Amino acid sequence: MTYNSGQFPATRLRRLRQSPALRRLVCETRLSAAQLVLPFFARAGRKVRRAISAMPGVFQLSPDELLKDAARAHELGVPAVLLFGIPDQKDTRATGAYASNGVVQRVVRLLKRELPELLVITDVCLCEYMSHGHCGIVQKDKRGARILNDPTLKLLAQTATSHAEAGADMVAPSDMMDGRVAAIRQSLDRAGFTDTPIMSYAAKFASAYYGPFREAAESAPKFGDRRSYQMDAANASEALREVALDIQEGADIVMVKPALAYLDILHRVKTEFGLPTAAYSVSAEHAMIKAAAANGWIDERAVTLETLLAMRRAGADILITYAAADVAGWLKEG
Ligand SMILES: [Zn+2]
Repeated sequence: MTYNSGQFPATRLRRLRQSPALRRLVCETRLSAAQLVLPFFARAGRKVRRAISAMPGVFQLSPDELLKDAARAHELGVPAVLLFGIPDQKDTRATGAYASNGVVQRVVRLLKRELPELLVITDVCLCEYMSHGHCGIVQKDKRGARILNDPTLKLLAQTATSHAEAGADMVAPSDMMDGRVAAIRQSLDRAGFTDTPIMSYAAKFASAYYGPFREAAESAPKFGDRRSYQMDAANASEALREVALDIQEGADIVMVKPALAYLDILHRVKTEFGLPTAAYSVSAEHAMIKAAAANGWIDERAVTLETLLAMRRAGADILITYAAADVAGWLKEG
């Protein structure tokens, strides 16, 4: 370390805090709209705008309404969106996930046609499309239900490739099956999408912070939980192994999810690997701030910005947040 270890009174750290201009000059971490990704929940229909009770300001949107909100966010400076789909029909093979006219595929085509400069990232998973709500194929026998890893990879790869065929700029697998990044990379390459990047949910923890999202994406498991594939909240070293494997398999960007309760993981991932690193500030992080703000207990803008700054300071280059449009607006105001 080469930091200044001077002593008082020659050294006074308050000297550089005297004015806004001085403080800006020595500011170590900055928030910029260019780092933001706004998630959307797409469903079929027209003029559908269904509020999600535990996520104020977030809606399930039909393609026409989603386009309006995406255009508004893009105008405010949000460069990218992340799409989740809610299909009309669910089954045990997640058919809707890789249907060429599935809801996500249709929204991707619409957004790329109307807002060609907006980066369209698609979440790649099967849970919203499975009647049982799990992220993989389920096998039930006398011992109970198991989520099958290897047969699921094919469906995930098919889903990612169908998103790329629709025009997605990037795919983001969130299922936590082993080997899925390699399977997706291979499938994309074989279909000619060698330039489509993969942002992997590399360290995704089984978290109580996902509560409100399950209502938003209608993806709550009908039995059991996701602890046989998502990570144990107690494990940090294992998170590094997960990230290392995804990088070996071809991930271009790695993600830590959730963000706020996992800042140590973010820091270690960024320090250890140096890849572009994303933090997903999840539904309950959003809900907690919204609820406290609605009660007048906190300043929503100040707390939101400070929270995102903490993620940046911990090592995040990319911030996925339901507040992205608000944040972009606030940053514009200065
Ligand atoms: Zn899933």
